[in-house]
Amino acid sequence: MTSDKVTPTRREFLRQQLGPVLLATFGRRPAHAAPQPPQAEASELVSLSRTAMASRFEVLLPNGDGQAVEAARDALELTADLERQMSVFREDSEISDINRRAAAEPVEIAVGLFGLLEAGARLAQETGGAFEIAAGALSRVWRICQREGRLPTEGEIESTRARVGVEHVRLDSERRTVEFAREGMELDLGAIGKGYALDQMAELLRRRGVADALLHAGYSSVCAMGGPHRDAGWLLSVRDPAGGDGPAARVRLQDQCMATSGSAEQFVEADGKRYGHIIDPRRGWPAEGVMSATCVAPTAAEADALSTAFYIMGVEATLEYCEKHPNVGALVIVAGESDGETETVTIGIPDDQLEAPT
Ligand code: ADP
Ligand code: MG
Repeated sequence: MTSDKVTPTRREFLRQQLGPVLLATFGRRPAHAAPQPPQAEASELVSLSRTAMASRFEVLLPNGDGQAVEAARDALELTADLERQMSVFREDSEISDINRRAAAEPVEIAVGLFGLLEAGARLAQETGGAFEIAAGALSRVWRICQREGRLPTEGEIESTRARVGVEHVRLDSERRTVEFAREGMELDLGAIGKGYALDQMAELLRRRGVADALLHAGYSSVCAMGGPHRDAGWLLSVRDPAGGDGPAARVRLQDQCMATSGSAEQFVEADGKRYGHIIDPRRGWPAEGVMSATCVAPTAAEADALSTAFYIMGVEATLEYCEKHPNVGALVIVAGESDGETETVTIGIPDDQLEAPT
């Protein structure tokens, strides 16, 4: 192995790296496990990372042999291409091109992006429009207001809401085109793009024979492949949104993904009130009510999109969603009865995947 970018990490090192939302800890070795070869020791996790989509993407490998490290490096390289494709903050991205042209004509798009838009459209329908890929016009209005330090007017919200909604987006799978039925519509993949990138990275790793790895984007979206000790899975912590020292919950994942949405880090402040960056597209206003929403799902794209949706939907609607989708689980954290207290509602996550949050 001849790379200066590769940093072998120790448990203590990781602990110091506590991300804003999630902290990777290690699967406890099960009693029946055979003695581990030295490279499977948690203290020898290898970390590779790079920045893309305004997040730090990291791959942790329990088995950092040369081939796995090479694959992880290539997986991280993918994030640059995906950002060029999906970012609304880049004029030269494929998504910006679509947003400029799709009201005038059908725009042909790349296979991968088309698949993502189809998945996004399905998730928008299934969440009753809480997650919405075609809510870019609203996010833009709120971003502009944030810069100007004011709230949007009701008139601005109403006129923008008319330019939101996947029902006004035509996806033609035969010609692989996208077209908007209305002027001024904008696709925004901000709530699903990082998850999608992790799925693409995981697929590359699997193709290259890597079965055990933990991938995350700024700790808010995570893909847990295998485990640090194969059959133990990865133990992940969900941060306490009230800012307490310990985690709010710990979940063990094996070949599953998880994402958390909250508004603690990004918000607009106006008239002494905080407005988060997650917008309820049905009302046009930032969602309120839940402190954080975590989703466990088979893919990181779903986990990412659904954590945003669950944040907006709240406990009851999240419960209904998870009942209909048994492979999806949630942890919704709401304010408790007394000041500073929180209550964690766990939905559809088996008890044996949960550990005491210490
Ligand atoms: P983060 O990126 O901070 O982890 P999310 O995954 O919840 O948070 O995504 C938030 C981003 O998604 C916003 O910055 C915005 O670009 C976009 N967005 C906001 N509200 C919605 C929504 N209801 N549906 C889809 N995307 C949204
Ligand atoms: Mg999300």
